[in-house]
Amino acid sequence: MADYSETDFITRCIHVGNGVDKETGAIRRPITMANCYQLPEDASTLNWSDPNNVIYTRTTSANQLYLQQRLASLEGGEDAVVLASGVAALSGVFFSFLDKDSHVICSNVSYIAVYRLLNQYLPEKYGIQVSLVDTSNLDEVRNAVRPNTKLIHVETPGNPTTRISDIEEIAKIAHQAGALLSVDSTFASPYVQRPLALGADLVVQSLTKYINGHGDAMGGAVIGKKELIDKIKSEAMVNVGGCISPFNAWLIMRGVVTLPLRMKQHSASAQKIAEFLESYPAVSFVAYPGLKSHPQHALAKKQMSLYSGMMAFGIDGDSATINKFVNSLKIIISAVSLGHDESLIVFIGPDDERIDFYPPEFRTHGFLRFSVGLESANDLIADLKQAFHTAGL
Ligand SMILES: *Cc1c(COP(=O)(O)O)cnc(C)c1O
Repeated sequence: MADYSETDFITRCIHVGNGVDKETGAIRRPITMANCYQLPEDASTLNWSDPNNVIYTRTTSANQLYLQQRLASLEGGEDAVVLASGVAALSGVFFSFLDKDSHVICSNVSYIAVYRLLNQYLPEKYGIQVSLVDTSNLDEVRNAVRPNTKLIHVETPGNPTTRISDIEEIAKIAHQAGALLSVDSTFASPYVQRPLALGADLVVQSLTKYINGHGDAMGGAVIGKKELIDKIKSEAMVNVGGCISPFNAWLIMRGVVTLPLRMKQHSASAQKIAEFLESYPAVSFVAYPGLKSHPQHALAKKQMSLYSGMMAFGIDGDSATINKFVNSLKIIISAVSLGHDESLIVFIGPDDERIDFYPPEFRTHGFLRFSVGLESANDLIADLKQAFHTAGL
């Protein structure tokens, strides 16, 4: 394969991991839907669990290997492991780097499965010690460090608050403590934020979101030094079984081609919409890293190249009014997930299990998490306006 290491990000999105199919001469690598691959003439000394050699699709597949090459290149890491979902990737990190005597520090606002894994399952089943802190506050991170801290895990921008944590400073704290820093960078994508370049040891992506971008496949990835990634491959892929289907790996390989174009559009529209929402009287707050009113706007400006397409906002109204607003939207769809082509909105009510960790303005009436899609920003603003009017707001 040609060497693209000196080429720009947008070129690598297209070419890294692609190649000419040897059998047909097709200039795109095919989807290899096979559970296993022919063994060498002497298989007697083969390592059956080698995660870097195609033997059995749970230990790796051709399409997975191509996608891993591309993602490692885009995040600027030595290697990547691709798994069935973002949560499989996150569990891969936790199961590989935490053991019964270790301590982990994690953002107190994080993806719901991370919250449950770290708040409940890992401590209760395996005695792992966990500190959930506001990682946007460096003192809280520093004060939480213990002699047995093995991992700091931050999500930035955080889902769903868009709170920003300082990757460079937290990497210093982690390394001083002899711990690893892993960063869930799903809300940003590698086009917008490169945690490894800022000192993180591992970056986690839910490929389901911006990287695939089309809402039709699930996947997850961890990217970092080969030695760390190999550990995840052996411990959490081969022996836990969260492998990705070749078809999904192929879809994600296709989706990521347009990542740079999409992120520019998501970010430009989100900025416009966030400014509109901030000026709308019935909107109680807007949390978007691109707004000057965002508490970590300066930090976002420093560590992200764009502000991405995710925001949260509040409405002055009871749940019935907010439901009426959501159900009156005609273009924006009420559904979970994010980073798709279509705009998605979710009403997170005031009874959410993590609500106590959210900033005060999020707690009163609950709030809306809004993933700004690729439709025209003017159409999206018109849709929001008509839904506000229908709901009497
Ligand atoms: C969606 C999401 C995940 C989980 O990814 P899945 O592919 O749904 O398993 C993890 N982290 C963040 C920030 C997410 O938004």
